Amino acid sequence: MKNEGSDVLIIGAGMVGLSLAHQLLEKNPNLSITIIEKEFQIGKHSSGRNSGVLHAGVYYEPSTLKARVCVDGAKRLKDWCQEQNIEILKCGKVITPQTKELDPGLDILLKRGQQNGAVVSIINNDEFKSLVPDGFSSTGRALWSPGTCVVKPIKVIQKLAGLLEKRGVKIRLGVKVLEFNVKARSVSMIEVNSANSNVVETYDYNHLFNCAGCQADRVAHNFGIGKDFIILPFKGIYWKLNPESNFKFKTNLYPVPDLNVPFLGVHVTPAPDGTVSLGPTAIPAWGRENYKGLEKIEPMMAIGFLGDIARQWVANKNGFRRYAREQAFNGIKPIFLKSAQELVPKLRDRDLIPSEKVGIRAQLFNRKSGKLIQDFLLEDGESSTHILNAISPAFTASFALADLIIEKSSLNI
Ligand SMILES: Cc1cc2nc3c(=O)[nH]c(=O)nc-3n(C[C@H](O)[C@H](O)[C@H](O)COP(=O)(O)OP(=O)(O)OC[C@H]3O[C@@H](n4cnc5c(N)ncnc54)[C@H](O)[C@@H]3O)c2cc1C
Repeated sequence: MKNEGSDVLIIGAGMVGLSLAHQLLEKNPNLSITIIEKEFQIGKHSSGRNSGVLHAGVYYEPSTLKARVCVDGAKRLKDWCQEQNIEILKCGKVITPQTKELDPGLDILLKRGQQNGAVVSIINNDEFKSLVPDGFSSTGRALWSPGTCVVKPIKVIQKLAGLLEKRGVKIRLGVKVLEFNVKARSVSMIEVNSANSNVVETYDYNHLFNCAGCQADRVAHNFGIGKDFIILPFKGIYWKLNPESNFKFKTNLYPVPDLNVPFLGVHVTPAPDGTVSLGPTAIPAWGRENYKGLEKIEPMMAIGFLGDIARQWVANKNGFRRYAREQAFNGIKPIFLKSAQELVPKLRDRDLIPSEKVGIRAQLFNRKSGKLIQDFLLEDGESSTHILNAISPAFTASFALADLIIEKSSLNI
């Protein structure tokens, strides 16, 4: 079956694919855009499963793409949520050094935040205690980011998808791409829910954007792009604060992170609905969609991942051993509790109750250099653009990131 095709074909209806469609329409309302999503609902992966924190732009070195888009993107997403009546918790964020050795990290973050245009300041112990009475700072100092907000991510993407459909974007759910015919600029795809699984549809495009999140490397490899890179899935498990516990958190509480690895560490996040989550972990997942137990385990991927981890351990590049010691085993509750107690010492086992929320980070790894990639990576190919490593803060930065993707792509609009 041959379809009429469209100017732009986007693979993946996560926040990156949806905001890209939004910005393409802003630039050219006449473009025909189709988004293909293999799941039956949107938000089944990272964009519906993250902390919902709209980051202020504190962490990133000023030369990075993350720094370039985070502050602007956060402002635009906040404004957009307000216009759409999506609830935003304007609660700010405190970053605290859990040990004395981490205290100089506050000054690095202060400088980076200021260079990136974020509002940040160092606060003293009294100010810290008034913001987070149960929090711990090893030196009494902390970093305060008043502009950090929290949203419910699923509400954001559902609203955005609905608006795009009203503006004529076709969002096709439950459709999976089987083959890419790069020269002919067409894909062969199959309806996942089709009773007749032989029904294959060919779909033409002028330009394809690969926004496939955890699968983006596999899609890119079909175009001969990003062959040195592979996505390693890191699982983020959350716990919920027991509503019966006596703790009250009115702001986000984050540790000073290990700036050598792309994970921010276990944090405390209040949500607009009044719940408080603790997490996420950053433990190796044994499949890109292995959210629970043995579900969707990919044995070959897991073996490769173990090999990559072993090599990282031996080489200890980017202080990998510190990550392994401090974060790799956080999936076990007592170990997780110990991490959380570095922020909130009085926290006890009974204060943490299981949360159904779990996400998987699509973390890019360069097999040649043996390094985890910290920044976003955008690769342009023949009539196609590939968004690799759309890790945090891609949700926050999405509108500004979409503009950057369009600017760097060979698409003529
Ligand atoms: C635990 C966790 C916490 C996070 N916290 C934050 C935070 O607080 N703030 C923040 O800014 N960011 C956060 N992030 C990062 C943020 O969630 C991601 O950067 C963002 O959601 C990436 O969006 P995406 O569209 O690239 O990916 P996704 O949301 O994963 O979307 C990709 C989509 O592509 C689809 N797809 C894949 N392959 C195919 C195919 N072949 N055919 C059709 N469809 C396909 C998938 O089904 C999926 O729906 C967090 C991430 C995690 C995992």
